[in-house]
Amino acid sequence: MNNLRKLVIATGNVGKLREIDALLERFNITSLPQAIFSIPEVEEPHPTFIENALVKARHASRHTGLPALADDSGICVNALQGAPGVYSARYAGEPRSDQRNNQKLIETLKNNADRSAYYYCVIVLLRHAEDPQPIIAEGLWHGEIILEPRGEGGFGYDPYFFLPELNKTAAELQSDEKNKLSHRGKALARLIEQLQR
Ligand code: IMP
Repeated sequence: MNNLRKLVIATGNVGKLREIDALLERFNITSLPQAIFSIPEVEEPHPTFIENALVKARHASRHTGLPALADDSGICVNALQGAPGVYSARYAGEPRSDQRNNQKLIETLKNNADRSAYYYCVIVLLRHAEDPQPIIAEGLWHGEIILEPRGEGGFGYDPYFFLPELNKTAAELQSDEKNKLSHRGKALARLIEQLQR
């Protein structure tokens, strides 16, 4: 793992960066946000999370010459056959807005008895831009969508993502608590396990 002490994190999403940074810090890995290299955002044109994650990591690694880590994630609603899924960030169109995305989601689901949903995250690590064997890990986090927001923490859909066993939304969790339970936390822990092996 020695040559992976510094990783470019291929995202401009501040919420994700904060979570990934906190998780990697525990393993003495320094995460460098791609913004400090002035890397332009890349298109995410693919219909699967894994393809989009690979595109983002390859792009960041190519621009910096460093190993790169990217996550692609989203919320999948069972009654909507997994939508918004890979389109979670731009569910209500451009420009991207968490508030409009959330409004669209609750509007779509308000008459639906089944509001079960899960967050999905896949994380990839490329040791260099042409790495033919990316390290890949995924994580899921099950919950349900509520119609009134609760909590101030997290980002994105968190105020509407309710965890019945905790009687809290993801936005009501402390950040270290969210990092332990979340799709991203699980994926990152699995990635670290693979690195340690
Ligand atoms: P990506 O940047 O294409 O991976 O988009 C991920 C999108 O999924 C985010 O912009 C959020 O809308 C949603 N999302 C992913 N993970 C989370 C989370 O932990 N909390 C809230 N929303 C999330």
